[in-house]
Amino acid sequence: MAGAAAADTGRVEAASIPNAAPALRLGELLVREGHATQEHVDQALELQPVLRKRIGEILVEKRWTTTRAIAEALALQYGLEFVDLSQVAVDQRASQLLQEGFAHKHQALPVRFLGDDLVQVVVADPANLNTTDELRLALGLNCSIAVADPAALEATIARTYHVTVSVSDVGPDEPEFDDPTVAEGALDLVNALIGRGVNARASDIHLNPQVRDVLVRFRVDGVLRDDSPIEKRLQQAVAARVKVMATLDIAEKRMPQDGSFVVYIGGAAVDVRVAVLPTKHGEQVVLRLLQREQNLELPDLGMSSEMENVFLRAIAQPHGAVLTCGPTGSGKTTTLYAALDRLNNGERSIATIEDPVEYQLPGVMQTEVHSRIGLSFSRGLRTILRADPDVILVGEIRDEETAQIAIQAAMTGHLVLTTLHTNDAAGAIARMRTLGVDPDLLASSINCIVSQRLARRICHHCREAYEPSPEQVMEMNLIAAGGTPTLYRAAGCLQCGNTGYSGRVALYELMPVHGLGRVLLDGSTDEVFEAAVAAGMRTLREDGVRLSLAGVTTLEEIRRITGDRRLV
Ligand SMILES: [Zn+2]
Repeated sequence: MAGAAAADTGRVEAASIPNAAPALRLGELLVREGHATQEHVDQALELQPVLRKRIGEILVEKRWTTTRAIAEALALQYGLEFVDLSQVAVDQRASQLLQEGFAHKHQALPVRFLGDDLVQVVVADPANLNTTDELRLALGLNCSIAVADPAALEATIARTYHVTVSVSDVGPDEPEFDDPTVAEGALDLVNALIGRGVNARASDIHLNPQVRDVLVRFRVDGVLRDDSPIEKRLQQAVAARVKVMATLDIAEKRMPQDGSFVVYIGGAAVDVRVAVLPTKHGEQVVLRLLQREQNLELPDLGMSSEMENVFLRAIAQPHGAVLTCGPTGSGKTTTLYAALDRLNNGERSIATIEDPVEYQLPGVMQTEVHSRIGLSFSRGLRTILRADPDVILVGEIRDEETAQIAIQAAMTGHLVLTTLHTNDAAGAIARMRTLGVDPDLLASSINCIVSQRLARRICHHCREAYEPSPEQVMEMNLIAAGGTPTLYRAAGCLQCGNTGYSGRVALYELMPVHGLGRVLLDGSTDEVFEAAVAAGMRTLREDGVRLSLAGVTTLEEIRRITGDRRLV
């Protein structure tokens, strides 16, 4: 089995590391891997006797390379694995093997088990022999050392050991339970669940009451995974605890309620949106986790370069609307934020109206919808228009008034970025007409419409290449440059928790509106779609096929995501 083999390799590593003297020098490796220039390495070497620092430190201080590049080079130098912590869910059972103080002091974090008595520990500095010796003592287990970017490691250590819930700790509303340990247990349990969710990069945590216990599920990379269930006797206390945190009515158990609170995990804010729904076996609780700090640069979104050019041209216009579409959780807001990030260079005044504010952008005037005090999208939009912004982000268009103000704004010298809850780009046209937007204005006011989905990325450690059958080639219209295409299938290994996938990638469909002609006025969604394809639009499925052929995801995943869609 793949798992057993990998564990064995780990054990060998543990025994042999890091005694071997590095064969290549760090500077040479950085140059070879394209992470630094020979000139910079030479200059750093000259500076070394003066500054009395390590070569890597000098290169980073001078901004000639990054901490991550140094870490990758160190991993190569010592023949160790480099671990990208942004792609790894830290196993709490592993991290708990070390005390927080030890982890900080030695910049080391156990991240996962590779076998029953073998744990993988990431460190910032594999050259530090003392650390590895002390680690083995402290863990009481064999460890396999891997290297991580020190900046990412520091942040992950802070996050792993620190879940502070910043809820005003709790007044007269605190529910009473006969057994005081129940309330206490619920408090610890909820904190631990949120901490685990954040570390596992979960977007949602579901607590579903069953007859005998409460089913706990994390949504990671768009897919739900079971976690250990909660005992039935804690069910009510857990629901009550969450309701207190979200300032909901604890006594109300028959009506759905929603609210929110903020937790700080290792100093980073995480917004938690709460929905409580009554079910037959008690209250179902769904926690949506919105982590504010994210990397938002456009090249990371994974658009093909041809598509990215069209998109960049659309957002570079001084006016007009750019719409993104897709179901909840398809990443459409992230795409708009990436666009905003690109536009936010100090030359434009930018304002947003959002529900909720998901990412904080420096220099941008961000307003949050607040229905309880009557601050709706349309009212907020009217207000921010008075401040005469160049660029406006409207979190979502879901009512007529907002649609009409947004289109007006797009036609009067503002660039408007917004999302629509429709399945595809073509569907956005009919939706705008339903929302009362004059069809005659669509072509002149909308720069482009993007539709998107998130697909799981195939795990690069275990993917298996294969040649697709002639039927598959036909079905998915697989055309590779130079003969038979190679595809990959997900196998599953320790790195990806046996799922075969790790992380996500977006599929896009980008529809320029100008030039579609009469279908915009009264055409059905199908007719709009056909006109767009005739005008050269690449569909979601075609973009998915591109990513499959590039070995980024699988055909099965593309089929899962676009299965119900039209084929062309
Ligand atoms: Zn894998």
